[in-house]
Amino acid sequence: MPRRQVPFQPSAVRRSLLGWFGSHARRLPWRKTRSPYAIWVSEVMLQQTQVATVIPYYTRFLHAFPDVRSLARAPLERVLELWSGLGYYRRARHLHQAAQLIVRKFQGRFPRQYRDGRALPGIGEYTAHAVLSIAFNQPYAVLDGNVARVVARLRARRGNLHQRSFRQAVESDLERLLSPRRPGDFNQAMMELGQTVCLPRAPRCRICPLKKWCRASELGKAESYPAPRPRRATELRYLAVAVIRRGSRVALVRGLDEGLMSGLWNFPSGFGATRQAAFANLAEKLHSLAPGWIEVGRTIGRLRHGITFRTIRAEVYSATVSDPLTGRSWRWVDLADFPRAAVSQLARKIAAILPQVS
Ligand code: SF4
Repeated sequence: MPRRQVPFQPSAVRRSLLGWFGSHARRLPWRKTRSPYAIWVSEVMLQQTQVATVIPYYTRFLHAFPDVRSLARAPLERVLELWSGLGYYRRARHLHQAAQLIVRKFQGRFPRQYRDGRALPGIGEYTAHAVLSIAFNQPYAVLDGNVARVVARLRARRGNLHQRSFRQAVESDLERLLSPRRPGDFNQAMMELGQTVCLPRAPRCRICPLKKWCRASELGKAESYPAPRPRRATELRYLAVAVIRRGSRVALVRGLDEGLMSGLWNFPSGFGATRQAAFANLAEKLHSLAPGWIEVGRTIGRLRHGITFRTIRAEVYSATVSDPLTGRSWRWVDLADFPRAAVSQLARKIAAILPQVS
């Protein structure tokens, strides 16, 4: 006999969800605080990054910059050092700029008005809703991929978040469900359910607090909601990289190529659609940085790296230089300092394949 579903009652769904969250919520460092600054930092770090990866970064960041003012005062380089390895460095730059604006315009306090928060660099609707609901208990619903999945399954809604009609339907469901008294807990509970129970491929319906109202689970095909989002095609790019070495130190320049990672230090490099084009681009770049002083030698390693939708095939060349390279565009960094320096993850990977100096 097919199971009969209980009528959908937002207040009952909400109660069950909040009850479950009260006893099952993971103890995450940003859940110990209601500080808007700390919640804001955690929400920015959590965009496109797994919880387990974020925890040590969050802890170090908050230790170095315990409040908005200390972040605003810090040099960008120091902020990027602490972000190094998390990726999507634009987030760190925006965080830093926004902290400076908060100090200047709002006396160091995260604004309570949606419009003011939303106008800060790097704060979209998602982050503004998260901070205002969790820190200030304001009735804003948070909609991310995890939450959309839970709602789409509960109501058996077809589509994906890139479709306007689907998004509107899910937003309207969410508005009905949102707890007016505990919006912050409600939002966190929905995200938690999406991350730990209502998993994309294998939802754990047996232990789900919302099972009795869930239409997709009743239909026996929870996994097929929502529709997968169309994937952006991966772009293959070749990168030629020059390693200029003096003992344990290497010469680095800011940015990668094509405007990527502008705030981070990298080995000098050039992109191209082919190996040859990348090499030519690198040679040109080295010439513009130190005309006639750098000679590129043999290949010393190859590796692959992913940045957003790009797959990068990097070829690493040794290079020698007959100039001290002391200009402002260069920096000599000891390989032993890489873990703490504002260098890119790709530069770390390259450093890891370099032969040790005896
Ligand atoms: S019952 Fe299953 S599909 Fe429905 S919300 Fe819970 S985990 Fe997701």
